[in-house]
Amino acid sequence: MEDWEVIVIGGGAAGLMAASRAAQRGRRTLLLEKKRRPGTKILMSGGSRCNLTHALDVRGFVEAFGTQGPFLHSALAALGPEQLVDLIEAEGVATKVEPTGKIFPVSDRAEDVLAALLAQLRRSGCVLAVDEPVQSIAPHSAGLKVVTSKRTLRAEAVILTTGGQSYPGSGSTGDGYRWSAELGHTIVPLRPALVPITSHAPWVLGLQGITLPDVSVQVLEPSDDASRPICLARQRGSLLFAHFGVTGPAVLDVSRAVSGHAQPRRLVLRCDLLPDRKADALEAEFQEECREAGRRLALGIVARYVPQRLAETVAVQAGLGPERRAAEVSRNERQQLVTWLKQLDIPISGTLGFNKAELTAGGVALDEIDSHTMESRLLPGLFFAGEILDMDGPIGGYNFQAAFSTGWLAGESA
Ligand SMILES: Cc1cc2nc3c(=O)[nH]c(=O)nc-3n(C[C@H](O)[C@H](O)[C@H](O)COP(=O)(O)OP(=O)(O)OC[C@H]3O[C@@H](n4cnc5c(N)ncnc54)[C@H](O)[C@@H]3O)c2cc1C
Repeated sequence: MEDWEVIVIGGGAAGLMAASRAAQRGRRTLLLEKKRRPGTKILMSGGSRCNLTHALDVRGFVEAFGTQGPFLHSALAALGPEQLVDLIEAEGVATKVEPTGKIFPVSDRAEDVLAALLAQLRRSGCVLAVDEPVQSIAPHSAGLKVVTSKRTLRAEAVILTTGGQSYPGSGSTGDGYRWSAELGHTIVPLRPALVPITSHAPWVLGLQGITLPDVSVQVLEPSDDASRPICLARQRGSLLFAHFGVTGPAVLDVSRAVSGHAQPRRLVLRCDLLPDRKADALEAEFQEECREAGRRLALGIVARYVPQRLAETVAVQAGLGPERRAAEVSRNERQQLVTWLKQLDIPISGTLGFNKAELTAGGVALDEIDSHTMESRLLPGLFFAGEILDMDGPIGGYNFQAAFSTGWLAGESA
């Protein structure tokens, strides 16, 4: 049986960082990766541009993770967003902050970020074994036994960084959850997060291809009082109509409220297409424009506010035929138009599921892990980092930062 001081399982963001840090400390470290190349999700990320982190301080990151945030304090203190950027830049990859606060490589090439991480790994002295899936982990005298497709190994410490189970083609098939449960850990139920939302409504599908850069969306559940639905999540940002329903950053950010719901078909996605405009001011503006437009088509006025195809849909939903003249629009119809623009309700049928989710919510329960070290409270020598943990942040570089920070801290402690 081969002996190692540290074995890291899974060569994604968390594993590459954990393995480098452990080896830099002089620990004899082996990184095992199932696929032929490590870092597949890094290459896919941010539209292959890799949004590696966000221009926020530690407190901003902690807040973005909500109730899970405090767990990240020590990890972010060990490797915060500034240190992460310094580390990537020290490998010769310049970064830039976009107006949204998202940080990307200046080259817009995710492969440059991966190359930086691999250069760091190589220098650290860590041994990387690819195309070698781990099959099982079990406690063993003074450490853990790791069985791969090729050999049996023993290590003083094992860091589990196998990721979630979304985009399984990337190698992240959820193997680590099974081992963690076998080793006594609680797995908080898994569900897709940052995932496109589906709708069966023909009018929604007919809008395929339309992008709205600034929309306010809410996931609403009906309540006993029909006029007061319950808001499960809200976000503002861009939305894209697609052949299956809707996607885009604002939609992805609220999607966990849909995938975590027992009856997603009861939900609607309410979209305020003009979030900076007040309803009554908008109605007054319409009245004025309709008066001025006279015999011109009412549709032309709606199309000043939203793209033409969407304007047609809104006009139909509000009961205005395509031939309706502006001067003929009644007060009631104007109000309907405003309601449709401010409260466009998209019926939800579900989500595209794990296959198309950017993230897996749920995972290894945080209260069973020491957040100062990332070590299991149940099995000494077992460490966790990255998406395998019950942690899911919003879109915008937060999830990579969490993976890098927890990976670094695990490598520092193992
Ligand atoms: C399309 C897409 C775009 C994204 N864009 C962004 C973005 O721009 N910014 C951002 O912050 N986040 C983004 N994310 C989320 C981000 O990719 C994850 O948060 C991050 O990859 C998690 O890192 P990880 O190391 O924990 O897991 P992963 O990156 O999933 O790595 C896990 C690794 O473990 C390996 N593995 C699994 N099982 C085994 C086994 N049995 N034996 C050996 N190895 C194994 C896998 O092959 C994989 O290499 C995106 C995700 C997707 C899917």
